[in-house]
Amino acid sequence: MKETVGTTGLVFNEPLLWEKSKKGRMGYALPKADVPHAPLDAALVSEGPDFPELSEVDVVRHYTRLSQWNYGVDSGMYPLGSCTMKYNPKTNERQAALSGFAGAHPLLPEALCQGILELLFHLERYLAEITGMDAVSLQPAAGAQGELAGMLVIHAYHRNQGRQRLKILVPDTAHGTNPASAALCGYRSVPVPSGARGILTPDMVAPLMDEDTAGIMITNPNTLGLFEKNVKAIAALVHDRGGLVYCDGANMNALLGMVDMAATGVDVLHLNLHKTFSTPHGGGGPGSGPICVKKHLAPFLPVPRILKKGKTYRLSEAFPESIGKLHAFFGNTGVMIKAYSYILSMGPNGLKRASQLAVLNANYVRKRLKDCFHLPHDGLCMHECVFSDKHQLPHHVTTLDMAKRLMDYGFHPPTIYFPLVVSGALMIEPTETESKETLDRFIEALRAIAREARETPQTLKNAPGRCKVRRLDEVGAARRPCLTG
Ligand SMILES: *Cc1c(COP(=O)(O)O)cnc(C)c1O
Repeated sequence: MKETVGTTGLVFNEPLLWEKSKKGRMGYALPKADVPHAPLDAALVSEGPDFPELSEVDVVRHYTRLSQWNYGVDSGMYPLGSCTMKYNPKTNERQAALSGFAGAHPLLPEALCQGILELLFHLERYLAEITGMDAVSLQPAAGAQGELAGMLVIHAYHRNQGRQRLKILVPDTAHGTNPASAALCGYRSVPVPSGARGILTPDMVAPLMDEDTAGIMITNPNTLGLFEKNVKAIAALVHDRGGLVYCDGANMNALLGMVDMAATGVDVLHLNLHKTFSTPHGGGGPGSGPICVKKHLAPFLPVPRILKKGKTYRLSEAFPESIGKLHAFFGNTGVMIKAYSYILSMGPNGLKRASQLAVLNANYVRKRLKDCFHLPHDGLCMHECVFSDKHQLPHHVTTLDMAKRLMDYGFHPPTIYFPLVVSGALMIEPTETESKETLDRFIEALRAIAREARETPQTLKNAPGRCKVRRLDEVGAARRPCLTG
């Protein structure tokens, strides 16, 4: 491996604060007391918690070092397929932190929060325009909650039609959360196998769609990174039998400005603001998974809804058919402000360009790696491409080995072993914010790893060799987790 200046040295180990603690050391200095001492009750003092005793510089260095061990999209490429770990412009953070927004109490009366209501109202309109749908609720706090909201809307629609249905069709290329959301709503999910080309075909759906089936949940682009181009024909046959079409639009970052989702026959879809519309995510941070619906489903959206009358915005719960509330107040408003800021600063052409670049980057990676790694579905992909370890398995090298080795080359590994329809999957989403130079370095690293798999497979078995933590005992970590540090 080529040594790059600055990849070694001055990387410190960092013990626990308790291990660094020195009795009597303090992070502050108080002036000499000018009042008489009054001793505290000894029993109280000795019962205090065992805080480490440290100076200010000890504490600053401790947390600064730990922060440097962390890896995020601000430190390098993060090609985690299905997650859209793109760079999030800092201006969006700045807007969300404006004191008028950050300090607004959610219980403010409407007259005192017209600004935020106006912003949310317009964000709903922008998302409707971007997807082609008619009405939007910003309330769901994540993609998966958006799916649940969508399922509840479909459930409410069928109840309103006078007859509840029992099942929902979920293709094998749908996101893993889809069947879980359907089940949470009481539907039994019926798997639909994708065709040989990795996408759905009407003839796969037709025999499964009946009058007991509430609809279909289609992830588009699907988890193979492929565009489901038969949605319109599939939607027609689902609608023919009284069903509805749900689209998992979490990966809308491949389609902005290019696909009118409503025109493809979709009745309800969710977006992931924290993926497509720029909010740092992962690690359980706040998200936002708005749902967008066609007119006939608008009465079922969660409440409160934001209404505009004249120049005034207000919140209304007067929607008797609504599925109810999904989140306290308006949802995760900070994420919405960032999305609004992102949409305004990009503009329609910028958003379209972002999607074009996301697709271009993924196809560049696909083309440049397909002679080294098996590509189960070779053809134009959308924002991500899925390889497998089929060519490396004869050398006893697996996807896990290659992902670990990638860290030695200074890259965060891509998503592995997902989607489940590809055995040993390696799912790469470069995103639109990586430059060609970064992509080339990533590609060279993976090409080097493919070479090592053929020539020195043992290097991969022992990887990572240059990280702080070496190969973990994954079974041990799952069976005997150490939760106390
Ligand atoms: C990320 C993702 C989800 C789940 O979103 P969360 O915000 O993590 O709940 C659902 N569907 C697809 C296609 C996704 O990529």
